[in-house]
Amino acid sequence: MNYTVVPVILLLILFILLLFLIIRFNKGKRKAQIQWQQSSVKKISGFGATKSLEILPIIDWHTNRSDLKVETGVSYLIKTDNNSILFDTGLNFEQSDPSPLVHNMGKMGISLADIDSIVISHNHLDHVGGLKWQKQKTFSLTSHQINLGNKAVYTPTPMIYPGLSPIYAQNPTVIAHGVATTGIIPNQDFISGRIQEQSIAVNVEGKGIVLIIGCGHQTLPKILARAQALFEEPIYGIIGGLHYPVSDSPAKIFGIKIQKYVGTCKFPWKPITMDEVNKNVDILKKVNPKIVGLSPHDSCDASIATFRKAFQNEYKDIIVGEKIEIH
Ligand SMILES: [Zn+2]
Ligand SMILES: [Zn+2]
Repeated sequence: MNYTVVPVILLLILFILLLFLIIRFNKGKRKAQIQWQQSSVKKISGFGATKSLEILPIIDWHTNRSDLKVETGVSYLIKTDNNSILFDTGLNFEQSDPSPLVHNMGKMGISLADIDSIVISHNHLDHVGGLKWQKQKTFSLTSHQINLGNKAVYTPTPMIYPGLSPIYAQNPTVIAHGVATTGIIPNQDFISGRIQEQSIAVNVEGKGIVLIIGCGHQTLPKILARAQALFEEPIYGIIGGLHYPVSDSPAKIFGIKIQKYVGTCKFPWKPITMDEVNKNVDILKKVNPKIVGLSPHDSCDASIATFRKAFQNEYKDIIVGEKIEIH
């Protein structure tokens, strides 16, 4: 065996892999853009409004309480006048039982019976309760799939759950009085491949639409464009993840700032810049939102500081255990 051949073979394999990823990325980006341009949505009107809206982060990256757990995942409880919706099911990286989500629900006095439906933003590990469940195209609240009774489930890709028939909400769907999903907006990530993500829109009486977002892979301009195409009401608020890991990545693997390279839907050697964050701030300012909150699970402190400074009193920190109330 000629040992000088080994590194050459390894380099060749790496080169072929890189080539494959570049071709897949370019193809996927084109396809996602065509799908976006061809997508037409019917206006949702007369779907009601809620007088009050509460968004309670059960899982995210920051908390002020020592009895609550944090992780680089998302799970928010969305409460309207008549409904309680669980948006995403966290990360549970260690697949512990109880998971951080179930632990925090216990500490906050939230029981499963309080929740009438579940919406999954997209099939990424930090939103479906772990990599194990992502791979199986399902989701879980803890290390095993608990009985969810007859809860309604709305997913952005076809997904399964024992004993339930999740609804694939490819198109915008009214899910409760004054609450709708935005329909999926596709994008392509260099590493993780195709992403189909949806958000929740809540119509708050006399105010307008509050958008609740998971990771924001759809990109902010497209999320806003979709909401404006869907609703007659103005956009009142935007709460959740928009993936701005500029100076840092909340999630790290062996010290690598992983979110700077994965989930950006850009080439890994062209990470998100503060310039892009500022451009998005300007785009968001044009809709004049009254409530803005950026999830720290996929954005760095510098990006959050930029948003806080830009939106001043309109800015709300997303903190596990602290309700954001709109009424
Ligand atoms: Zn995420
Ligand atoms: Zn994601």
